[in-house]
Amino acid sequence: MSGIGFVGEPIVVESPNVEYSKNEIISRYEYRESRVVGNRVTPLNENLIFKTQRQVPKTGVLLVGWGGNNGTTLTAGILANKLKTTWMTKEGEHHANFLGSICRSVTMRIGIDDNLQPVHAPLYDVVPMLNPVDLEIWGWDISSMNIADAMVRARVLDYDLQRKLYPELKDMVPWPSVYSEDFIAANQNDRADNVIQGTKQEQLQALRQNIREFKQSKGIENVIVLWTANTERYAEVREGVNDTADNLLRAIEANESEIAPSTIFAVASILEGCTYINGSPQNTFIPGVIELSERHQVLIAGDDFKTGQTKIKTVLSDFLINSGLKLASVVSYNHLGNNDGKNLSAPKTFRSKEISKSGVIDDVIRANRLIYGENEHPDHCVVIKYVPYVGDSKRAMDEYTSEIFMGGRNTIVLHNTCEDSLLAAPIIMDLILLAELCTRVEIKRAQDEEYTRMHPVLSILSFLLKSPQVPSGSPVVHSLFNQRYSITNFLRALVGLPPETFMLLEHKIP
Ligand code: NAD
Repeated sequence: MSGIGFVGEPIVVESPNVEYSKNEIISRYEYRESRVVGNRVTPLNENLIFKTQRQVPKTGVLLVGWGGNNGTTLTAGILANKLKTTWMTKEGEHHANFLGSICRSVTMRIGIDDNLQPVHAPLYDVVPMLNPVDLEIWGWDISSMNIADAMVRARVLDYDLQRKLYPELKDMVPWPSVYSEDFIAANQNDRADNVIQGTKQEQLQALRQNIREFKQSKGIENVIVLWTANTERYAEVREGVNDTADNLLRAIEANESEIAPSTIFAVASILEGCTYINGSPQNTFIPGVIELSERHQVLIAGDDFKTGQTKIKTVLSDFLINSGLKLASVVSYNHLGNNDGKNLSAPKTFRSKEISKSGVIDDVIRANRLIYGENEHPDHCVVIKYVPYVGDSKRAMDEYTSEIFMGGRNTIVLHNTCEDSLLAAPIIMDLILLAELCTRVEIKRAQDEEYTRMHPVLSILSFLLKSPQVPSGSPVVHSLFNQRYSITNFLRALVGLPPETFMLLEHKIP
């Protein structure tokens, strides 16, 4: 029987367009698009060259909100994989794994074998990727609890696993953080016993000092800073305050009140040359931060991890609308009982989440003017409630109602129960691994002299984010499979392979 092939070692592309040297992979790549003017469509080709460093530098991640459910679950999960920890539950013995990570648990199609059957390879065998177990992890939290006790407080991992990892985590104590009661829910106040005092400028300096010391003490070449702390309220974008990079730096010096803690982290990270990722929905990336990242050519990515409900929503809306059905109403309820839910029970932080969740079907609707008029949009409602009893085990209930052929109605109702942080942790890991890869990629047009880094706003990470940041003027893509193929086609481009077309023409020519 001819099966589906699998390559279990790093792939090597043999092509005149690709050169592998000790340190680099150079790929000459023809990027094809079509320009449309009125009803005239002209194919366009652009010759690009990608250069990917093959050596993965020693990389560290600094988590903001390290002692939270996500921070502790990620740290414990990576450690358990490193130590190959096993643990018992009533179902029997469990082994550490990376399920839920596209970098570690997903394959992509590479080509066909002699029998014209597809052959797949893990993403990490297409180009060199950081192995998560090699990652150095540290971070900040407004709670001084060590990571072992914080893991216990989170009530996410099984008891026996907690017991085995506790000794390894108990000496990890988060650095004090920047805290402003005004930006997160008042109900977080009793957690805040680990706070950097002083002006915003002094706080910025303290964070920069932390980053430098982390690098030096562990011999780390590349640091990524990732916000997995509580959702903040939206910051107001004010002229003269946070609208440009220079105004933002001046506003921090002037101790201006509308500068959010997350913005101070982003600024510290950019000034230290460290990629910054925002896993929460707030508008950390105000115009001043984006300009600063462009000025320093430091990569940034956000916003808000795309874990459960939104992931399904971006699949279902794509499926319904691209099947020609008119999705007319989407109603989503969530209830959760973890500290994130507690923080989101305040209207100002809930509003950030509501904004982040509500734009996710926009692109698929805008693309179809056969079904939807110019300003037409389905009803879309998002409700989040805090129910302490369910803990981290979030419930998501969704109802999708569509209009179908000749006046019919189609209603799909979903109920999803899942540990929130067990979905989020592998996504956080993927953000880190893919962002690290992007720091090793340079690009140029064939006729250009110099390579440049990728655009600082990493839209390539959209698959992992609810409300993706994109370069100014770039369309936002929410559809999950489009996002996924933009990652795998990008990896193919780095080794000179054409994009996946799904045409299977080799089987269609008689
Ligand atoms: P959590 O409340 O368990 O953890 C957040 C941690 O951040 C806490 O330990 C808190 O003490 C700390 N914190 C708050 N303000 C801080 C500051 N200024 N500096 C440093 N630390 C600070 O929440 P969680 O479940 O780990 O989620 C973290 C974030 O990720 C939330 O904003 C949440 O909305 C976002 N998110 C989570 C998911 C998911 O599925 N888990 C999905 C999308 C987004």
